[in-house]
Amino acid sequence: MRLKPSKRQLLGLLPTGIAQTRGAVGDGARYLTFDDGPHPEHTPRLLDLLQANGARASFFVIGKHAERYPRLVERIVADGHLLGNHSWNHDHYDHLGLAEQLAELDRTDALLARFDGRARHRVRTPQGVLPLPLLFALARRRRSVAYWSYDSLDYRKPPVAELVGRLQRVPPMAGDIVLMHDDNALACDALAQLLPVWCATGFRFLSLSPERSQ
Ligand SMILES: [Zn+2]
Repeated sequence: MRLKPSKRQLLGLLPTGIAQTRGAVGDGARYLTFDDGPHPEHTPRLLDLLQANGARASFFVIGKHAERYPRLVERIVADGHLLGNHSWNHDHYDHLGLAEQLAELDRTDALLARFDGRARHRVRTPQGVLPLPLLFALARRRRSVAYWSYDSLDYRKPPVAELVGRLQRVPPMAGDIVLMHDDNALACDALAQLLPVWCATGFRFLSLSPERSQ
C-alpha cells in the first residue's frame, strides 16, 4: 500500500526560499510559532512567559486583529520576536480567488510594516491551506511560506495536562518549527510548565529568519 505524502512532506522537498518546514538546527534551536493573535488576554501572558525564559518566537498575526490591538504588536516587536503574516481576515483560502488571497497578504504586510519597518513578512495562510496557484504566485514574488514540522495540535483544545504530556513524551527536536496558537490560553498554560524544563535541558527558542527584503 502506498501512503500519500503529507503536504508538509511535499513542501519539505521545495527549496527553503519557496517553503520552509524546518529551521536551522544549530545550538539546539527550536522555533515556536503562534498563529491567530494578537489577543488582548492571551498574548501578553505569552509574551511575559517567553521573556521570563529568554525565548524568542514568531507570531503569525491576523491583520484585522493586529489593527485592533496595535500596542500588542508593538510589544511583540519590542520583545525581539518576529511578526509573520497570517492573512487579514483568516478566511479559508480555498474559498477565495488568487487575487483576493494575495490582497489579504498585501494588506497585512502594509499594516505590519508600520510596526517593524519591513515591507514583507513570512507568510502562513489560514489552516496552512496552500492552493497551487498561490504557491506559484508567492514563489514568483520570491516569497517564502513558513510551514511547520511539529504540530502541537493545541487547536483541538485538549485538556492542558494531555497537551503537556504529549509534548513531554515527544518534545520538539532541534530545527523543529512548532505550530501553536495564542488566541486562547492553552499554549501558554502548557508552555508555562514546559519552557523552564526545556530551557534547563539546553533547548533554545529562536524566531524564524525574516522574509527577504526583495
Ligand atoms: Zn490560523
